[in-house]
Amino acid sequence: MGFILKCVTVLLVFSFIVYVLKAIARLSHHLRATISDVKDIREKASGRTVASADMVRCLSCGAFVSSRDAVTISSRNSSRAFCSDECARAHIAK
Ligand SMILES: [Zn+2]
Repeated sequence: MGFILKCVTVLLVFSFIVYVLKAIARLSHHLRATISDVKDIREKASGRTVASADMVRCLSCGAFVSSRDAVTISSRNSSRAFCSDECARAHIAK
């Protein structure tokens, strides 16, 4: 009886250890994926401030703004970008 109980206990402990190890492996894998995601986002974010692909230059004051924040005015098949409404108005007033 004692022997069987010992066997069962050892089995339970062993399966518990395996379960914990699997959980840790899954967690670390998930963590690594998250870290690489964060790195990707960071690279994209830093690339956005450095690279000019997503940046437009204000026609009025020459400041660089991201195309998302830029004020664009489209006319005669051409679009002009400005950093702000004031710059757009100033350019039109010229
Ligand atoms: Zn401007």
